[in-house]
Amino acid sequence: MKALLIVLSLFFVHGLFADTDSKNEDKKSPTDLKKLSDMVTELAQKSITTCKESTTDKTPFYISDEYRQGDKIWENFRSIEDHTKKVSYIPRGSIVHAPVELAEASYHPNYRVPVEVLSLPDKKWEDDLLEESGKRGNRHFRHKALTPKGLPRSQIGDQGFLDRRALIPAGKFTFFVKQGSRLEKTPGGLDLTDFPLVLVKDGDQFAGERCCEYELNEEPACYFKYRFAALNESFDPVEYFDLDPLRCGLLEDIMPVPKRSDFDVSVSRILSKMKEEYPGFGILEGVSTENKKLSGLHFLPEYKGSNLNTIHRPYMVKIPLDHETGEGPFNSYHYKPDNIASNDSFLRPKPLCAFMEVMKQFQKECGGGPGCQVQFGNFYHDPDWNVHESHGNGTCVDIRPFRDSSDADARITRSSGQYNRERTRKFINLLKRAGAWPIFFNDSKIKGSRWLSNHDDHIHACFHHSNKYVKDACNDGL
Ligand SMILES: [Zn+2]
Repeated sequence: MKALLIVLSLFFVHGLFADTDSKNEDKKSPTDLKKLSDMVTELAQKSITTCKESTTDKTPFYISDEYRQGDKIWENFRSIEDHTKKVSYIPRGSIVHAPVELAEASYHPNYRVPVEVLSLPDKKWEDDLLEESGKRGNRHFRHKALTPKGLPRSQIGDQGFLDRRALIPAGKFTFFVKQGSRLEKTPGGLDLTDFPLVLVKDGDQFAGERCCEYELNEEPACYFKYRFAALNESFDPVEYFDLDPLRCGLLEDIMPVPKRSDFDVSVSRILSKMKEEYPGFGILEGVSTENKKLSGLHFLPEYKGSNLNTIHRPYMVKIPLDHETGEGPFNSYHYKPDNIASNDSFLRPKPLCAFMEVMKQFQKECGGGPGCQVQFGNFYHDPDWNVHESHGNGTCVDIRPFRDSSDADARITRSSGQYNRERTRKFINLLKRAGAWPIFFNDSKIKGSRWLSNHDDHIHACFHHSNKYVKDACNDGL
C-alpha cells in the first residue's frame, strides 16, 4: 500500500510540474496524458529503496563450531523434520544462518537452532588430516577428521539443526577474502584480497542501515545492511561500507579466522609475507610458481575441554608447502614429514610468522642457494605422543644444522665434514633476534645455543606466543 502511495504522489508531483510548465492550464493534450500514463506504468514496474542509519543486535550469520565432540573438526547436523536424527556432519568453520521463518516453522528444544548452510571450508583440509602414514602418531590427526560411517558431509543450502553452543556469532571473526571472489573490490576500490574485513559494532550492537524496497502492490521487503570495515596491515579500518552479506554472494568466498589471541593479526602478517615473496598468494588457494606449488593456509581448530572453558590446544595454522617436493617458502624444506600432507607442520600463527621472518632474513644474509636451504622437521605434535614432548604447544621448531653446498635430504651433525658453522651461527643469531628461547644445539662454539642430549643433528627453538620480540619480529620484521 505504501508503495502505491509513493507512486501516486510521484505522479502528483510530476503533474504539478507539468502544469506550471504548461502554458495552457486547463487543457491537457492527449499526448501529455499518454506520457503520464506511461510514466505511471514505468514507475509501477520499478521498486523504490530507502535506507536509514540503524543498529541491530542480531548477528548476520554464525560460524559453526562443535559442542562436546572432543578433538573433532566437525559437529552433527540434524534433520529439519526430526531434530533428534543426525543426517550429516558439518565441518567446523562452516558459515550458517538462522532465519526466523525456519525457527517458527519447526519444533525443537531451545538448545537446538534451525539453520541453513551458506558455505563450507575447503574439503582438502579434511582429506589432508585423514591422510595415512606409517607413523603411529598420525592417527591423532586422522582421529580429528574421522566421521561416523555413512554420515555424509553437509552441503550448501542444507537446512537442519545445530546445537546452539556450536554456533559462534560472526562478530568474533575476521574475514579473509579469497582470490577471484564475486565481490572483488570495496565500493572505494580496494582489492578485497588484500584487506581483511570485520563487522563494525556500535557498543554491543551491529552498525549499519535498515533498507526497505517498495514495489507496487507488494509488501515492502526490508533487510539490514551490515557495516563492514576493510582493515590495513596494522588492522586499522581504512574503508567502511554497508552490505547485506546474505544477498551479495560474499559468504562463499570468505574464510573466517577467529579474533582470539591475535590469531587473525598474525595470519594477516603471514599472508603479507607470503604475498611479498609470492605475488598472487591466496589464503585458500596458495600459489603456483614456475618451480613449486605452495598450498594455502590450513587451520587446526582449537580443542576445548568438555566444560568449554579449558583450551587443551589453541588454534594453529600450517606452513604453506609443496607437498610433492616438501619445499616451502623462503628456500625451506620439510624433512621427514609424517605423511604426504605434512600433518606435523602446524604451528601457532605468531610463532610461525616469526619463524618465517627468520627464514626470510636468513636468505638475504646467506645469499640464497642450496647451502642456504632451511631444512625443518617437526612443528606441532600432540603432547601424548611422548616423543618430543616440548612440541606439544605449537611454538617449537626443529631445524637441521647448515651445510656447505648440498641441499640433499640427509641428516648431518655438528661433526660432519659438510657442517657449516658460520651459516648455522647466522641462523641461530636470527632466531635469538626473533625472540626464540630456549635454543638447543650442541655446538659449544656458537653462543646462545644450549647443550641438550640428542641435539647434535638439529637445532630446537621455541617462539613463545606472548614474547614481545616474537611479536615484533612477526609484525615489524627483523
Ligand atoms: Zn625439537
